[in-house]
Amino acid sequence: MYVGVDVGGTKIAVGLVDQDGQLLFQKSCPTRAERPAHEVIEDITVLIKKLVKESHKEMTDILGIGIGIPGMAEKDTGNVIECVNLGWKHVPLKRLMEKEFDKPVYIDNDASVAALAEYEIGSLKGADNSALITIGTGIGGGIIVNGKLHNGSHGIGCEIGHTIVGENFYDCSCGRNGCLETFASATALIRYTKKLIEETKEETIIIDKLEGNLDLLEAKTILDSAKEGDCVAVKAVNRFIKYLSIGLLNLINILDPEVIAIGGGVSKAGNYLLNLIEKNINNNKAFGDMEIAKITLARLGNEAGIVGAAMLCKHM
Ligand SMILES: [Zn+2]
Repeated sequence: MYVGVDVGGTKIAVGLVDQDGQLLFQKSCPTRAERPAHEVIEDITVLIKKLVKESHKEMTDILGIGIGIPGMAEKDTGNVIECVNLGWKHVPLKRLMEKEFDKPVYIDNDASVAALAEYEIGSLKGADNSALITIGTGIGGGIIVNGKLHNGSHGIGCEIGHTIVGENFYDCSCGRNGCLETFASATALIRYTKKLIEETKEETIIIDKLEGNLDLLEAKTILDSAKEGDCVAVKAVNRFIKYLSIGLLNLINILDPEVIAIGGGVSKAGNYLLNLIEKNINNNKAFGDMEIAKITLARLGNEAGIVGAAMLCKHM
């Protein structure tokens, strides 16, 4: 049995997970990310101890602890290089946790960890070469190569969100211009739609839906409006799909995976989104008739973070 830890910007969730990836018991607490790293880590250790106690297990039942972080960690040392949302830089997370629990501790990026969960029990199951792309505030990714989570040589693993796909009207949080996540994340879709509305003054049902307050704009409103045929929304969604497809095709051309799963908040648009992506990819793929990766929706929800983190222990 393993402990999986999902460290998010707003919530820390921990869970007991068995060898088959089944989540048996979980607990959570607020991250309060404005605090120093050592206070947040202290809360993680307290939460794990409570989890084990309240599920009537002993620490000796736990074979290892896996932690998913919203950032990058060095593969060998388990030192967190950076988590922008948490304000962490060079935090020796693995060393601190191993000292506290005397168990092996493994750390990886949250999207990579979610890919591992999809590979174990979700829509990537059985696909030894596959990838998960999570589309939310940003774009994250995780890659499975030959049945193993690919985590690269420097902890970068899969930063598909920061691959350059064009020139954009605003810069990325990484300091460059043209990153995929500035074209094809929820944030990107919202920013471009606002720009369209403000610049073109075209009539749109989006304004009515928000009762005039554009600050309330969410990706869901845009996707729903596009489904209803609203011209502004359709234009914004088409641009979003165009660049997302470029990103996916780049991944396909480098990796040639069997399956790519789409997860994250935006994937709630379901088959509507999937059909648009499939159509665009089929029209734009290289080498015409060659068979390429199947695009599908991720199957797991929030539990992917805990389950995937725990599965790091199994895969090491
Ligand atoms: Zn970037």
